[in-house]
Amino acid sequence: MKHIFAIITTGLLAAHTVHAKLNVVATTPELAAIARDIGGDRVEVVSLAKPTEDPHFVDPKPSFVVKLAHADVLVEGGAELEIGWLPPLLEGARNPKLTRIAIAPGIQLLEVPTALDRSKGDVHAMGNPHFMTDPVNGQIAAQRIADELAKRDAAGAETYRANLAKFNARIEAKMAEWRKLLVPFAGKEVVAYHNTWPYFGERFGLKIDLFLEPKPGIPPTPASLAEVMAKMKAEHLRVVIVEPYQNRRTADTVAADTGAVVVPVAQYPGGVKGTDGGYVELIDYIVNALAKGLAK
Ligand SMILES: [Zn+2]
Repeated sequence: MKHIFAIITTGLLAAHTVHAKLNVVATTPELAAIARDIGGDRVEVVSLAKPTEDPHFVDPKPSFVVKLAHADVLVEGGAELEIGWLPPLLEGARNPKLTRIAIAPGIQLLEVPTALDRSKGDVHAMGNPHFMTDPVNGQIAAQRIADELAKRDAAGAETYRANLAKFNARIEAKMAEWRKLLVPFAGKEVVAYHNTWPYFGERFGLKIDLFLEPKPGIPPTPASLAEVMAKMKAEHLRVVIVEPYQNRRTADTVAADTGAVVVPVAQYPGGVKGTDGGYVELIDYIVNALAKGLAK
């Protein structure tokens, strides 16, 4: 009898010490990667958007509603990045206990318009929502995630703080190397398909301000492309960057006509080869790919 009691108590103690992991849903894969870095083995993280998907136009699958219904925490970009697909999913999930962590309110947004105007289909009506392309903003996101996870799961506060310190140390160690790689190209202008890169450009001294899209979210037309190509030729612009879900053939045509090179990049870990490792690996890839393209 004594023996059985001992087994039962041990079992109860074991069940008590093995805590359930926090269910974290991130809207996009770079936020998921950072949440994994910060949460470690105290969290289970999934991303709704795939790394090869346009964050403005994510396919809202019914399974997303289920994920949000069972989530403890949602990490989202904000600044209307997910406005086209996230609100109905949240409504369907009916999860009043969900802790929502929006990163944008802590970020100095670029390109904030003086008057809100969505009439022409511009998907950046609140300012540019692609701030995570600047690793310093990645650190702001990591800090925010660590703070909020600690509030939701006080027992893990020490772990989250330690993981945040590790994340910051990795970024800071890389930053000098990244700057050094791009310093030779300071002030150079780069062409992009979509206006995804102003934060990255500002951080590393590049002007990524000419776009194949006439407006964010509006596909190029022959007339808009002709204008871009004329400018590229006049100013000898040599690099066009293109993301996985953008029309590579359009970028190739523009590059062939202007003597430029196409450099594939991505906003999300796993969006291009060699970036599966996470956020730091992604920034590392982008810096190296651009340095190589600009050196040609
Ligand atoms: Zn955009």
